Amino acid sequence: KSKHTRLPEWLKTDIPVGKDFGRLKKDLRGLKLHTVCEEARCPNIGECWGGGEEKTATATIMLMGDECTRGCRFCSVKTNRAPKALDANEPEHTSEAISRWGLDYVVLTSVDRDDLPDGGSEHFATTVELIKKKAPHILVECLTGDFQGDLRQVHRVATSGLDVYAHNIETVENLQKYVRDRRAGFKQSLSVLEHAKKSKPGLVTKTSMMLGLGESDEEVLSALRSLRSVGVDVVTFGQYMRPTKKHMKVSEYVHPDKFAHWQKVGEEMGFKYVASGPLVRSSYKAGEFYIKNILR
Ligand code: SF4
Ligand code: SF4
Repeated sequence: KSKHTRLPEWLKTDIPVGKDFGRLKKDLRGLKLHTVCEEARCPNIGECWGGGEEKTATATIMLMGDECTRGCRFCSVKTNRAPKALDANEPEHTSEAISRWGLDYVVLTSVDRDDLPDGGSEHFATTVELIKKKAPHILVECLTGDFQGDLRQVHRVATSGLDVYAHNIETVENLQKYVRDRRAGFKQSLSVLEHAKKSKPGLVTKTSMMLGLGESDEEVLSALRSLRSVGVDVVTFGQYMRPTKKHMKVSEYVHPDKFAHWQKVGEEMGFKYVASGPLVRSSYKAGEFYIKNILR
C-alpha cells in the first residue's frame, strides 16, 4: 500500500471487472498464451477483457520473447543484446490459441529485435496471416518497433492483412533522447507510421504518447501536428508511471483535465479517435474504440 501513498487520487483506482472477464480468464488456461495484460498487471484488464459497451474484448500478446535488444529509460522489459532465437512455431501456436480464445480484437506486440536481419517482420506478418486464416472475424492490431527505420519491414507487416498498424512515438521530439533508446527517434518513428499508411492506403495507423515526462504543451501540440501530417488516425495519451527506481522519474502527475484537453484538441485536429486519460495505455479498449469510431 505504501507505494501508493504519494499518488494523486485519480491514479488510485479500483479495477472494474466486466462480464466477459471471467470467461476469457478461464479460457486462457491451457492455451499457453502470454498476455501483456496479465504479465504487466495492467489496471485496465477488467475493462479490456470485459469488452465494454460494444462487447469487444481486447487483449495484448507479446511475441518474440521477453528480452529486448534496446533499453528505453521508461520500460521494464529486460535488455539483452543477444536474446534467444525465435521460436519458429510461435506464429502457428499463437494464432491457433488466439482463434480458440474468444477474443474480438487482438494486439500483437513484441520486444525490439535489432539482432534479427528483418527485425522480426516476417514473424509478425506470418502470425497475422495465420490468425486471419483461422478466424477472419478477429480484428488484429500490430504494435511494432521501428525496424531501425527499414521501411521494407514496415511494408511486410502493413500488408499482412492486419487492421491497425500501431507504432509508438512515446514522447515529444525534444525528449526522445532522454526517454527512448538512442537507436530510436522522432523522425524515424514518423517515417514508420507514414510508410505503413503508404503501403496500404486506408490502413488505420495509430500511435501513443506518455505524459508526465517534462513535456510542454507547445511540444505536445507540435507532435500532434507532425502525426497528422503523416496521416496518423489514432492517438492515445497516458500517464508515465515509473516501473522501478532504476527508471526515469515521473516529472509530473498530469491532471485528468489536461488529458481531457488533449482529447478535445486531437479530435478537433481530425484524428479518428483519441483515447486520453491517466491510466490509458496504447491498447486500452482498442477493440471497443475501433468498432465505435472506425467501423461506424
Ligand atoms: Fe491488456 Fe492493453 Fe488493455 Fe492493458 S490496456 S488490459 S495491456 S489490452
Ligand atoms: Fe521496452 Fe520497447 Fe524500448 Fe524494448 S524497445 S526497451 S520493449 S520500450
